[in-house]
Amino acid sequence: MSPAESRVHRLLAELRRHGVGDARVLAAIGRVPRHHFIAPPFLDQAYENVALPIGRGQTVSQPMVVGLMTQALAVGERMKVLEIGTGSGYQAAVLAPLCRRLYSVERHRPLLSEAEARLRHLRIHNVTCRLGDGSRGWPEQAPFDRIIVTAAAPDVPPALLEQLKPDGLMVLPLGDVGGIDQELVLIAKTPEGLDIRPFLAVRFVPLVEGLPEE
Ligand code: SAH
Repeated sequence: MSPAESRVHRLLAELRRHGVGDARVLAAIGRVPRHHFIAPPFLDQAYENVALPIGRGQTVSQPMVVGLMTQALAVGERMKVLEIGTGSGYQAAVLAPLCRRLYSVERHRPLLSEAEARLRHLRIHNVTCRLGDGSRGWPEQAPFDRIIVTAAAPDVPPALLEQLKPDGLMVLPLGDVGGIDQELVLIAKTPEGLDIRPFLAVRFVPLVEGLPEE
């Protein structure tokens, strides 16, 4: 095994220990070269189980969090998925092989351009990204089988609930924005209403409404 392969192997073993047991999710994470999504000063940590800065005050999530969110989302290969917060594009690259098509919204133009370039370079062709305020979702492409939000809000943005199919699932961090009291929740839309299950204490950057001034 090359040193690079053994780092990936070690990371996957760590994810399994933290509860990522889904073989498809582990295979997807194992195939995405995380070092493509990381800035040069942090390359030595690309395969460590840590969140890392990606510019504009944002971060790419810890691989364990990416693994547990992806697993909770229970994505099927015929599904249409919406991601809010493209960031580096890493979570999108992990989801891409698991679904039919992924739509991803980012509010920072430079992050979006870099993410699109990385996805192109890795020949990932079923992800479409756009600049926008993801709290409004992507109405032209709705409804979605699955929605994943990678920035924290105090409440679920109503537009996202509207754009989720009946029987759809959504994973997002909810809670105290900028604080430490956040939880990842899995929301199932059912005929009886919403079933909301918290599953992990986390710390995400905030979901910010509107676009930054350029
Ligand atoms: N999924 C990303 C994680 C990025 S961190 C990855 O794998 O790298 C969260 C991202 O959400 C940041 O890039 C931030 O700019 C973006 N974001 C925050 N609020 C947003 C909003 N209202 N609409 C779209 N993107 C948003």
